[in-house]
Amino acid sequence: MQAHSLLTTTDQLTTVAGKVWFVGAGPGDPELITVKGRALVEKAGAILFAGSLVSEAATRWAPPGCLVLDSKDMTLEQMSVWLIKQARQHEIVVRLQTGDPGLYGALIELVQPLDAAGIAVEVIPGVSSAMASAAAAVESLTLPEVTQTVIFTRVEGRTPMPEGESLEELAKHHTTLCIFLSITLMGRVTGALTAAGWSPDAPVVVVHKASWPGEEKIVRGTVATIQALCREAKIVSQSMIIASPTLGARHWATLAKSKLYDPAFTHRFRRGIAVVNPDHLTPTTASQETS
Ligand code: SAH
Repeated sequence: MQAHSLLTTTDQLTTVAGKVWFVGAGPGDPELITVKGRALVEKAGAILFAGSLVSEAATRWAPPGCLVLDSKDMTLEQMSVWLIKQARQHEIVVRLQTGDPGLYGALIELVQPLDAAGIAVEVIPGVSSAMASAAAAVESLTLPEVTQTVIFTRVEGRTPMPEGESLEELAKHHTTLCIFLSITLMGRVTGALTAAGWSPDAPVVVVHKASWPGEEKIVRGTVATIQALCREAKIVSQSMIIASPTLGARHWATLAKSKLYDPAFTHRFRRGIAVVNPDHLTPTTASQETS
């Protein structure tokens, strides 16, 4: 108590009450971190990064003297002990995670011990590899009258799938499937798609190291061919499998156009568009209105 009352400046107080920021580092290209995430890295006293997937370049903006540690050989417990210790010494501690921290990122397992230790946490979202893979391949994950739904999933590896979530069951919806963590189980993926009624000619795209400068590979195939094509391309890790009835739409001769941009379609913002601030015509607002 006595020592505490001697702390007079904000700086001194905050150094003993640091916050752990879970920051999405993006899919690989260091420039795909958010502006907010980068600003936190630039001010961090300590950074724990997921070395197996996050390019070390993601830490290139760390300030001099910042403690930077790769978590690839650490257990979850070692990581939380380290984060708690650092948060008691630094105002800003960053846990850099690949893509978005809320997808297959052990976020909650790390947040719980911090909560228990009374350490504040905040999450900064990131560009998921699912988004980066679709972007790399110039694909839209939704298309009018084709599919309006995207499922993020994986096939069962060491982590069991909850009931009702087998790929075969999910694939029966014939929506877009972004399949994480499954490139070494491609046979199971194509088997499940086939069992769910997908044609052997249905397109599948695999993006390896989406957005990684100089390392990205895109393999296009079908349910029947994709496994062999990936084998030929020696793709065995860090890949997103996208199976979707939207794939290849860039080359379709006929496309059902989005109602939003159809000149015959009237909606709240179309009438009097000349006087409406175009900034108000955001896809989110407008599609909610037209759906
Ligand atoms: N939170 C991450 C996913 C972590 S799980 C995200 O939002 O992207 C790791 C899996 O993500 C990998 O097995 C792979 O399926 C996918 N992945 C991560 N980075 C990738 C990249 N650059 N390109 C393609 N797939 C990637």
